[in-house]
Amino acid sequence: MSLNEFELIKQYFTRQAKHSSVVKSIGDDCAILSIPENQHLVVSMDTLVVGRHFPEFATPYHMATRAMCTTVSDLAAMGATPLWFTLGLTLPGIDKEWLAEFSRGLFDLADQFDMDLIGGDTTQGPLTITIQVHGAVAIDQVLRRDSANIGDRLFVSGCVGDGAAALAAIQHNIDPSPEAKKYLLSRFYRPLPQIELGKALAPFARAAIDISDGLLADAQHIADASEVGLVIDVDRLPIHHYLQQYDLDVVRKWALAGGDDYQLLFTVSDATLPDIAALAKEKGISIAEIGSVVAASEGVQCYAGGVPYSLSTGSLLSQQPKGYQHFTA
Ligand code: ADP
Ligand code: MG
Repeated sequence: MSLNEFELIKQYFTRQAKHSSVVKSIGDDCAILSIPENQHLVVSMDTLVVGRHFPEFATPYHMATRAMCTTVSDLAAMGATPLWFTLGLTLPGIDKEWLAEFSRGLFDLADQFDMDLIGGDTTQGPLTITIQVHGAVAIDQVLRRDSANIGDRLFVSGCVGDGAAALAAIQHNIDPSPEAKKYLLSRFYRPLPQIELGKALAPFARAAIDISDGLLADAQHIADASEVGLVIDVDRLPIHHYLQQYDLDVVRKWALAGGDDYQLLFTVSDATLPDIAALAKEKGISIAEIGSVVAASEGVQCYAGGVPYSLSTGSLLSQQPKGYQHFTA
C-alpha cells in the first residue's frame, strides 16, 4: 500500500474508538473486538455502486449517509444494537475534498448510531462503497424472517412508498413541492433505520425484515422463510401525505414494489398485540397493521376494497414489479 493510502486512512478514517469492546481498531492486520456477554454477534454487508444505488451527481456526503443508513437497517431488522463497522472503499483517485465530505457523512451517521469504524480496505477502481456492520443482540431475542406463525398480524413501521417516490423525484418523473422534495430527498439519502423499534420489538415480535427490495418482495421473503402465506390489505398501507396527490395506482406501486423504504415489516401474535401498541406509543413510533399470516398454500396476496388486487405488469421506474433484483433482464 502506498504512503498516500496510509495517510488517507489516517487522515479521513481513523478516530478514537468509543466502545470499550474495541480492543484494537484501525492500524493492525485485524481489528480485535470483544463480543458482549450472552449476546449474538450479527453481521451484514452492503455494496453501493455509483450509478446503480445512488446517482452519479449525489454528493459524497450523501453517498456516505445513504450507505450507512441502508446497511445499518439490516441490524434494525434483527433487533440488534449497532456496534462497529468496516469500510471497503474503491476510489478512482484521491480527491481530498471528496474524502473530507465522505468521511464527514460517514462519521455523522456513525455518531448517530453510536458505532466505531474498526477497519476496512482501500483500493483504486470505479467508485464503490462497501460497508459491513456488526451488532449485538441478546441470544433469545433475535428477530428473524423465519418465525412467522399462521394467525399472526402483519405490521409495518412508518410510511411506505417514500423511497420510490424519492427516486421518481430525483429522476424528474414527478415534480413535488419544495417541502415535499426536501422530505423525499432526506428519505433517499438519509433513510434512518428503525433501530429503536427493532430493539424494542425484539422481545415481542415473531418475524421481521427491513423493506429494502419492496414491501411485496420482502413480504415474500418472510413467507418463504417461515413457510406461511400473507394477506395484505392495500387500503391500510401507510402513505405519507406528500404522496397522496399522485395517482392511487402509482402510489400503490411505489408502496408495494418500490423498495428503499427501510421500514420494518414484522409479525406479532394476538397475545402480544397490546405490548406492541404500548411500545409504539411509548417510543412515539408509528406502526400500522396491514394484514395477517395465513397458510403457505395461500401465497402472498393483496386485497383492496375487499377484492383481490394485483400490481399491473409493466415496469416501475425501471424496476420489476416484485421489487428490485440484480442480474434480471
Ligand atoms: P493489510 O495490508 O494488512 O490487509 P491494509 O494496509 O489494507 O492492511 O490496511 C491497514 C489498516 O487500515 C487496517 O487496520 C485496515 O483495516 C485499515 N483500513 C484500510 N482501509 C480502510 C478504510 N477505507 N476505512 C477504514 N479502515 C481502513
Ligand atoms: Mg495484513
